[in-house]
Amino acid sequence: MTDVFFQDYLCGITCIDTMLGRRGMASCYLIEQDGMLGFIDTGTNNSVPIMLEVLRRKGYDKEQVAYIMPTHVHLDHAGGVGGLMKEFSQAQLIVHPRGARHMIDPTKLEAGSLAVYGEETYQRLFGNLIAVDPLRVIHAEDEMTLDFNGRELLFLDTPGHARHHYCIFDKVSNGLFTGDTFGASYPQLNYGRAPLIFPPTTPVQFDPEAWTQSLKALMSLKPERVFLTHYGMHEGLSDLATQLRLTIKDYAGIAVEYAEHSNRTERIAEALLQASVDHLLDQECGVPESQIRDWLVQDMTLNAQGLDFWLSTT
Ligand SMILES: [Zn+2]
Repeated sequence: MTDVFFQDYLCGITCIDTMLGRRGMASCYLIEQDGMLGFIDTGTNNSVPIMLEVLRRKGYDKEQVAYIMPTHVHLDHAGGVGGLMKEFSQAQLIVHPRGARHMIDPTKLEAGSLAVYGEETYQRLFGNLIAVDPLRVIHAEDEMTLDFNGRELLFLDTPGHARHHYCIFDKVSNGLFTGDTFGASYPQLNYGRAPLIFPPTTPVQFDPEAWTQSLKALMSLKPERVFLTHYGMHEGLSDLATQLRLTIKDYAGIAVEYAEHSNRTERIAEALLQASVDHLLDQECGVPESQIRDWLVQDMTLNAQGLDFWLSTT
């Protein structure tokens, strides 16, 4: 059994490290209401034993899991869906209408992810995806509400990072489960004056205008906290939202600046990484530059690939 790291927050919400790549990089959430359980995001196939171990340690039964709720179908969020649905025979899958068919027949999703990550990394991180029975799939239309054992969960269509992305507003915690829509911010890098928060512009559906609109819609709910998949609970949202909005603009600007370069993906990746390093060193984050680079290089490489694709379609 791999190590299991989880942290209980408020209102029956537990953050679980899905151990993707390194500790503190990707999480998912267990939510509990009077004995009913749900997972928001799932990690990958490799994370399934972690979820089972967390349930065991908390003394829950598999039958209590009623819903699996991936915020979108990228594999760091939904790669474990098929495996979890197999384990939890009572569970239904709630997925964005644009993502549903990829959970029912993951062939295309697998091929797309292989193209992004390459064969070796893909197999190590994700492995083969497991198809979900369509009879167990609920499509989360925009503004759908779910009665989660008396607790209202509101699903909102939030394009920008991906067109198959929803966020979930939980009134009880006054919190939003945002997948990648409210950006990524790693706690280990946030010991300085201000955190680093950045938009994961992973291929292939980055849309800066839609993203800005989605952030506006989320903030209009006046949430007090967000639960990021990358990573954990964050408060002080108006500053974070402002910083994220500016960074989305900066990213688009950097992409356009390098648009005509022959090796533009590499140039964009380096520019994004350097901007993050500069920000963190300015904020005296306390982490040496080499470590910052090490922790962010994979994100910035993917971000650059997404921006490169965006340039080729705009
Ligand atoms: Zn992600």
